[in-house]
Amino acid sequence: MRVVDLRSDTVTRPGPAMRRAMAEAEVGDDVWGDDPTVSKLQAVAAERFGHEGSLFFPSGTQSNLAALLTWCARGDEVLLGAEAHTFIHEGGGAAALGSIHSHALANDADGAVDPAKVARAIKPRDNHFARTRLLALENTLDGKVVPQQRLEAACAVAKQHGLVTHLDGARLMNAVVKTGRPAAELARPFDSLSLCLSKGLGAPVGSLLFGSAAFLDGARRWRKVLGGGMRQVGVLAAAGLYALEHHVDRLAEDHANAALLGERLANVEGLTVEPVQTNMVWLQVAPALAQGFVGRLAARGVLASGAERVRFVTHLDVSREDVLRAAEVVREVARASAP
Ligand SMILES: *Cc1c(COP(=O)(O)O)cnc(C)c1O
Repeated sequence: MRVVDLRSDTVTRPGPAMRRAMAEAEVGDDVWGDDPTVSKLQAVAAERFGHEGSLFFPSGTQSNLAALLTWCARGDEVLLGAEAHTFIHEGGGAAALGSIHSHALANDADGAVDPAKVARAIKPRDNHFARTRLLALENTLDGKVVPQQRLEAACAVAKQHGLVTHLDGARLMNAVVKTGRPAAELARPFDSLSLCLSKGLGAPVGSLLFGSAAFLDGARRWRKVLGGGMRQVGVLAAAGLYALEHHVDRLAEDHANAALLGERLANVEGLTVEPVQTNMVWLQVAPALAQGFVGRLAARGVLASGAERVRFVTHLDVSREDVLRAAEVVREVARASAP
């Protein structure tokens, strides 16, 4: 049985051409700044994102954490969305390793953090309060492209109050392809930005952190402290370069496949499909069906994640045919599970 793995776009495996690029990469010791392939990736990406430079990290969790540690001192406050990956899914690293105070603000339905809420959350300079230092936002959020003017408005409020701004842009290229706007334009409101190469872009490992040369000096030090200083890592940077060159435009196929899956799952008794924007399909499963639902899909060769709100993520390693079959399996399992 062919398994259709829709748990995440992190499950993609490097194909033959990417592996060839990795095998042929020129390398050096990147802790000494000697790896030409890492340097090339960092320069090519920085140019594309309109930032002064970028820095290659083993993971997005580490690049977000290094950004927070670079911007915030002990006891400083970061404002972020209550649904943000950095707030929920990064092990509380900002508190555990940086003594940084996280203040979460509820995200609106469109994924944005309301600028008025940001303004109210910024503390006056007073010894009673943590020093609000950073606004950290996310795009895309759960597959939703956050409207750019709302991100800009929140950043403008932050800047008026002397804060700096960070974007967790793990899947920003999905927003680039969806909106047709260049990466540099979506990146512009932010002082720093993290991008994952290992999600829909299909590299096996790696994230990039963008910012000014002065910011990246600080981030490079924190990367080393966090154990992310890597040596002949051009073999991985080569995969990232290949991904940026060959795997950005094709994200449109993932979006089309997700839209198709969403259409095929509409009007099924007990299932509610949330609107699909990029490569994620969120399915609300009625409580009567939810028990064991994902397990029954897996038994039929369709892997998804969640329970009552089930997530399907399309990617490089699933075809239109795979998605059509997955939709059929979900429909059959829903029908067979109905009370
Ligand atoms: C995946 C992801 C990260 C970082 O993930 P790693 O698995 O540590 O590379 C950060 N933010 C968002 C929104 C993500 O989806």
